[in-house]
Amino acid sequence: MPEILRNHSLSKLNSFHFDVRTHKYCECKSVKDIQEIISRPEFRNEKTLILGEGSNILFSKDFGGLIIRPVILGREIIREDREYVWIRAGAGENWDEFVAWSTAWGFGGIENLSLIPGSVGSSPIQNIGAYGAEVQESIEEVSALDVLTGQKLTFLKEACRFAYRDSIFKQEWKNKCIITSATFRLSKKPELNLGYQMLAEKMSGRERQDVETIRQVIIEIRRSKLPDPEQFGNAGSFFKNPRIPEEQYQGILEKYPGLPSYPAAGRSRKIPSAWLIEQCGWKGKRRGDAGCYEKQALVLVNYGSATGKDILELATLIEKDVHGRFGIRLEKEVNVI
Ligand SMILES: Cc1cc2nc3c(=O)[nH]c(=O)nc-3n(C[C@H](O)[C@H](O)[C@H](O)COP(=O)(O)OP(=O)(O)OC[C@H]3O[C@@H](n4cnc5c(N)ncnc54)[C@H](O)[C@@H]3O)c2cc1C
Repeated sequence: MPEILRNHSLSKLNSFHFDVRTHKYCECKSVKDIQEIISRPEFRNEKTLILGEGSNILFSKDFGGLIIRPVILGREIIREDREYVWIRAGAGENWDEFVAWSTAWGFGGIENLSLIPGSVGSSPIQNIGAYGAEVQESIEEVSALDVLTGQKLTFLKEACRFAYRDSIFKQEWKNKCIITSATFRLSKKPELNLGYQMLAEKMSGRERQDVETIRQVIIEIRRSKLPDPEQFGNAGSFFKNPRIPEEQYQGILEKYPGLPSYPAAGRSRKIPSAWLIEQCGWKGKRRGDAGCYEKQALVLVNYGSATGKDILELATLIEKDVHGRFGIRLEKEVNVI
């Protein structure tokens, strides 16, 4: 039976390393454990939160309810043919260990997503993406439990409604289901995804052109650009890249000819938030221990003893400046609790 701990510290369970606590905390090692917990009256009566590894969460204060952490482990090849292998991985598996295991076997599809912190169970939620790849390209299905009924649910890829940093798990099913595992279809004859320019450049000099080498190069790039959360607490990109209508883009472009952009769905453009923030002079700036990272303006950092409130105040100032200057509203990628 899963044990409920009281007044549990979350300092190691949030990548900002805020010194916060939760009223109740429970780790579930199996689907049965979760079913048992969610059938208890206290689950219905309390505010609840599902937690992975806490790398996309900002705790603005102590959590006054019950945190459930699925720590279901296991990786299993459930099917294969000449081209593909289907692997089911437990929600509690560490994402990057799963990637390392896959690339060591030479399986391709998720190598560009190397070194993204977090758990396998969280990977579909915001459809993690980096260096020209998104996890939706490799997900076959997601298994979950309905928190109201305890029943098992299966979301086939199409039902997950994946989009940029989005899925059905952040929309209709937010807080209504607990992901227990995900099944990935990986290629035995991978085609390398070198769409990201810096990756292509760094790969061009390499003797080995395989998924394992991509993984090593991605790790090098990420380590050179992003702060290690163990050293400086952060949650990766704090804001999403906004999408704006073509007309608005043209208007801003007239004033700022250097405005970078990428074509997006419909008549719209995606603008890198990092550029907008940098233009407003925030890159490398600090307010006490809350700061905007010097090498990547999209990352807000806890340089020591900043609180969730400090980071949120900094984020609000950045949002105001970007809106005031460009008329663009930034949307947070991080889940604020
Ligand atoms: C240094 C750094 C770099 C990063 N780089 C990237 C990047 O390149 N690309 C990218 O996409 N993201 C990136 N991120 C964000 C983060 O790594 C991902 O969003 C990751 O998937 C979060 O996993 P987690 O287990 O820590 O989730 P958590 O932060 O614990 O949870 C995230 C959300 O999912 C919910 N949740 C968690 N587990 C479950 C479950 N089993 N069932 C239902 N709901 C659940 C939580 O309630 C919460 O709303 C980065 C973060 C850091 C710190």
